[in-house]
Amino acid sequence: MRKTELERFRKLLVIEKERVEKSLHKHTQTVTHEGEVGGEGAKAHSNHMADQGSDEFQYETNIQISSSEGRYLYQLEQALLRIEDASYGKCGNCAKPIGIPRLKAKLDARLCIDCKEKEERGLI
Ligand SMILES: [Zn+2]
Repeated sequence: MRKTELERFRKLLVIEKERVEKSLHKHTQTVTHEGEVGGEGAKAHSNHMADQGSDEFQYETNIQISSSEGRYLYQLEQALLRIEDASYGKCGNCAKPIGIPRLKAKLDARLCIDCKEKEERGLI
């Protein structure tokens, strides 16, 4: 992939990463707030685990949201690393180019469409 293309994808990845980070932060705040009905409101979200031992349901909901978005965040970070070593856009299985349209649709794509299908069918 050309350097100019890598730069373009780097920008897109950074924007997407910030969006996911904000979204994760928002969920944490929402849960913290709901768990503190009648409380004083804005506490540092780092306290929410210690303060809400009684509110297990809210806590578990938060964990579920965090884990799927957290995983996505991790994939975006990995994609940024692949931009650094210029392997971004190359299939992790067959090393063929993943293709710009597929990458635009899925910024963290690690496999080309053929290999992705194989992976989904458990062939690789
Ligand atoms: Zn492939």
